[in-house]
Amino acid sequence: MEKNSVTLTIKFLLLQYLFVLSVAQNFDFFYFVQQWPGSYCDTKQSCCYPTTGKPAADFGIHGLWPNYNDGTYPSNCDPNNLYDQSKISDLISRMQQDWPTLACPSNSGTTFWSHEWDKHGTCSESNLDQHGYFKATLNLKSKFDLLQILQNGGINPDGGSYSLSSIKTTISNAIGYTPWIECNSDADGNNQLYQIYLCVDKSGSNLIKCPIFPNGQCASTIRFPSF
Ligand code: 5GP
Ligand code: 5GP
Repeated sequence: MEKNSVTLTIKFLLLQYLFVLSVAQNFDFFYFVQQWPGSYCDTKQSCCYPTTGKPAADFGIHGLWPNYNDGTYPSNCDPNNLYDQSKISDLISRMQQDWPTLACPSNSGTTFWSHEWDKHGTCSESNLDQHGYFKATLNLKSKFDLLQILQNGGINPDGGSYSLSSIKTTISNAIGYTPWIECNSDADGNNQLYQIYLCVDKSGSNLIKCPIFPNGQCASTIRFPSF
């Protein structure tokens, strides 16, 4: 090779390396976050059911979020690989079932799913492409049935109040790891179970002990509203 083309090749490789660095953000683990629809909908802000109908009375997926061990997280990592629903057409009926949107105005779910992929999913591209990301998230939901686990422990979405510690213990006894619970307030200001966080390794398939928990606190006794 002549000198000029060697220089060109090196420049090209260097550019490629820099590009990969800028896109392939590394991360340490995922938060797998599920939301209780009753607690999304009974707030002052209320909610809208998806155009496909009222979701099941079950936890729904919120997202699978790449995180760093220090509690910070990357977001919107790749503007060149935005959500493309044609890549996941085989998963859409499962998404409608297990990842329903409750935001207004009503839509089929595309707004929620594209937000989650663009903001969070693009930061895990080094491990999972778009199809792999959604499939892994759906599989986590099927593998760990939080509502069943809670109900087996006598904790039911019946508008009753439960101690935060009984909720955490029931889940950790069943899955082997302590979850993180996020609360919000219903329209009357009562503290209630809103979201459950589990930690997942970078492959998107195995639970791990949470390296760090998010900030925020629930009351020691919280409501579990019906839906
Ligand atoms: P909020 O302010 O409602 O807690 O969070 C708003 C949004 O910020 C979440 O839906 C999620 O997209 C992002 N977010 C909040 N906390 C975390 C976190 O600990 N890790 C990651 N990856 N994203 C988070
Ligand atoms: P994050 O909180 O992950 O940043 O993103 C939440 C975004 O998704 C918000 O813009 C919210 O309006 C939209 N969204 C659509 N459907 C839902 C839903 O069912 N639950 C939540 N928490 N956010 C939703």
